[in-house]
Amino acid sequence: MLPLAAWSQGEPDYPQNYFRNPLDIPISLAGGFAECRPNHFHTGIDIKTNQQENMPVYAAAEGYVSRITISHAGYGNAIYITHPNGYTTLYGHLNDFYPELQQYLKQKQYEQESWSCDLSLPANRFAVKKGQLVAYSGTTGGSTGPHLHFEIRSNTSGHVLNGMLFGLPITDTRAPEARSIAVYNADESIYEQQPALIPLLKKGSGYTTKTGAYKSSSPHLYIGIQAQDYINNSTNWLGVYRMKLYLDETLQAATELREIDFAQNRYVNAYADFKTKEEKGTWYQGLYRLPGNKLDVYTDLNTQNGMLDISDGKEHQVRIELEDAHRNKAQVNFTVSYAGKTTVKTCTNTWMPGKSNALQTRNTSFVTDEQALYDRICFRYTESPSKQYYSDVLQLHDAKIPLQSSTDLGLKINQALPFDLRNKLVFIHHIKAASLPGNNPQDGAAARYDKGWAWAPVRTFGNYCVGVDTVPPVLQPLQKGPDLSKAKNIRFKVTDKMTSVKQFRAELDGRWLCFVRAGNTYTYTFDEHCTPGNHKLVITASDENDNQTVYSLIFRR
Ligand SMILES: [Zn+2]
Repeated sequence: MLPLAAWSQGEPDYPQNYFRNPLDIPISLAGGFAECRPNHFHTGIDIKTNQQENMPVYAAAEGYVSRITISHAGYGNAIYITHPNGYTTLYGHLNDFYPELQQYLKQKQYEQESWSCDLSLPANRFAVKKGQLVAYSGTTGGSTGPHLHFEIRSNTSGHVLNGMLFGLPITDTRAPEARSIAVYNADESIYEQQPALIPLLKKGSGYTTKTGAYKSSSPHLYIGIQAQDYINNSTNWLGVYRMKLYLDETLQAATELREIDFAQNRYVNAYADFKTKEEKGTWYQGLYRLPGNKLDVYTDLNTQNGMLDISDGKEHQVRIELEDAHRNKAQVNFTVSYAGKTTVKTCTNTWMPGKSNALQTRNTSFVTDEQALYDRICFRYTESPSKQYYSDVLQLHDAKIPLQSSTDLGLKINQALPFDLRNKLVFIHHIKAASLPGNNPQDGAAARYDKGWAWAPVRTFGNYCVGVDTVPPVLQPLQKGPDLSKAKNIRFKVTDKMTSVKQFRAELDGRWLCFVRAGNTYTYTFDEHCTPGNHKLVITASDENDNQTVYSLIFRR
């Protein structure tokens, strides 16, 4: 462990060794801070739990439980502990909390008649000591396997901080590894070109381009890099803490992933190249800043937002320095020169970042705000008449181009729509699942009717058309009644074809009963709320368009 004095200038003075390992097994990481994911940076570190659930989780330091959240998405079951030194730690994807807290939660769930909840707890109602058992690990919420998601946040800014900078016991002597670089023509929008993707080769202590010196047909370049970090004894790759871009020994751009403001989290789609991720499956992190990107991770940028000027035709040396949070470093060196002429593309309908852009036709309305775009696009759309749907099929630009803000999309209804279907409209949207937030990609979203048009906010380009949804969710019991005297629980699978399950309510003999949701499965585990004897359980489930299913189960416990 480095003493504070050994940190170089500019390092944050976060407390070292104040937080302990929240597990009692050595820390091995499945995911790191600020890794790029569609629509968000990963905001914590993912600590492996030996592929098991129910591993004890301990308070990383003294404090009190200030918040608990329960959801089938995101953090799943999560505890927030506020510490007296100005930080809050978060533990996510948990199964159960410690008994007193679990009891408190259950009481609140029955009071509010809601399994999912977000409870703020008064200071010191649940005080904890450093190392006190607070929960059992799991894989609840938006998790693909058992692990503990751990965050450290600042109480003053609310920002999440890089957990690797607090001296947790992590052995890390491995340097980041560079795989490939992307070279863009900076005179063109990054969305209107295919960058040159150049594989890198390990050479001596650093990396260089496999194909030697790079001859560019553009005098102005942006550089992106595919790079990953590793810690000892783990094959999982993590994000790179710091990157610096030099041209002929002069610093041009530098990034540092020290903290993330949740309000800026979606700018990951601009920080890294979303379009190339969609096309090639790989994130290239940009050593440039796009005009519509307000992310605050750039510690240095030249006056051209990281653009490299090689217009003089001479050979130039490019160097990229990579550094992880434990000061392990790697370097990429290569040569570039301008050797050609750019062909200038023309566009008759350019949409610009930083301003409102509009598509308004007889059948479509789409007027963005000033934040919607990160870089300019040559806007394209088609409207195809369809007998199958209530509107034209709109091809709205290209789903591979990211949007920062959502925009109200209006589609004109141009087929006879019975009055009683006006509140059953949906936007049908066919798109690759990777671009959608959450775990359950949907075919559609509810749309509202207004004067012959269907409206809904959308946050993705792609194709849209209007359908109707009159089909309620399908409810499938996962046990056979009526004798449940040997069963531990009652379970249902509930799915909705067009939209999502908006509401699920269970009543046992007329009183609300708490079902836990995991994905599409809803489970009630027998407890004091269901005594031995005969019972009637009634489930109602509805979708975004209020299509409702009612299901009754008479059983004996
Ligand atoms: Zn995580």
